[in-house]
Amino acid sequence: MMHFEIKEEYDCVRFGILKINGKSIRTPCFWIGIEPFSKPNILDYMHLKTILVNGYKILDKHVNIGKIHDYFKADAIMMDSGGFQLMKKNIDVSADKVLKIYRETKPDIGVVLDYPFNPQNPSDRFERWKKTIENTKIMFANSDGVVLMPVVHGYTTEELKNACREVKEITDPKIVGIGSLVPLVKTVNMKKFMEISKTEPFKFLIRAISTVRNEFPESFLHVFGVGSSTTMHLMFSLGVDSIDSMSWRLKASYGAIQLPAIGDRFITAKNGKRKELKEFSLLKNCTCPVCKNKSIEERKRLLDNAIANTFYNRAIHNAFVYVKEYEEFMKSLENGNVKDFLEMRMKENKYYRKIENYKQSDKNP
Ligand SMILES: [Zn+2]
Repeated sequence: MMHFEIKEEYDCVRFGILKINGKSIRTPCFWIGIEPFSKPNILDYMHLKTILVNGYKILDKHVNIGKIHDYFKADAIMMDSGGFQLMKKNIDVSADKVLKIYRETKPDIGVVLDYPFNPQNPSDRFERWKKTIENTKIMFANSDGVVLMPVVHGYTTEELKNACREVKEITDPKIVGIGSLVPLVKTVNMKKFMEISKTEPFKFLIRAISTVRNEFPESFLHVFGVGSSTTMHLMFSLGVDSIDSMSWRLKASYGAIQLPAIGDRFITAKNGKRKELKEFSLLKNCTCPVCKNKSIEERKRLLDNAIANTFYNRAIHNAFVYVKEYEEFMKSLENGNVKDFLEMRMKENKYYRKIENYKQSDKNP
């Protein structure tokens, strides 16, 4: 039912095929995050091969949406329980309930109900991991044909190794996810996190990926939630096989547009914290359903955060930019110039410049 094969490796980037339920997915792959019942439905505007459906609204509202492949048209569908949102809303949901939803909706991959850590308040992380591993046990024991992805969490290398060991006691996973890394690429207060990890957040992220990859060298490795147009290439360059992103929508909701190789930009920058769009040549090249055949002035108006009712436009534009960036990356893999492509895309990225130093210092501590 599922098979993962690594075809080639360039530096750290690995190129493979994930075969699942009769479908062949080229890896690294990128899953666009989708919430059922939310607008805009991005699938009305573009065909997506791989989507990650957040199941929390299905769980929260107790709705039966039937088979997920009838509801959303995509080649492969992964479903996440939305443990993070459920936890934030204090909704108590059991592993059995999540498994029941996976059985009814039949996604290609169902993610184990997990409890991500909070870097600002990491003191309860052992309790959260305990609940996650208990759910992993319950769900694998009763999987009944559902392909499950276990997710490991940890804020030190030791914690991650232990998490991997505990997963190995339950199953020999062909696919495995790493959670709790999302906040590490954001600029939030990391004091408490660093007291535990004893290292810079981004350096830990690199270490976390290599630790889990060493523990499961043959497994398809997914990193949750780190897939914006700037971070996706970083993740691929670190040897991650799979990423997802819901941020096309989140960023649109706070007014930001995405473009290749640069971070958040705003058509109207209201204060010094926001970066006004100056890279008009990038916007001019956009062929998304919103920008296509429009003048640059028209594009700016349609995407302007200061103009009402432009959220859908930004969301559609952002999703399109992510998918296009992913396609460009895959093209560079096929054409054998992935190294140049990554260099070109990430030369301005502060993290990219740090990667080699970090890797070296990990080799020679
Ligand atoms: Zn566009």
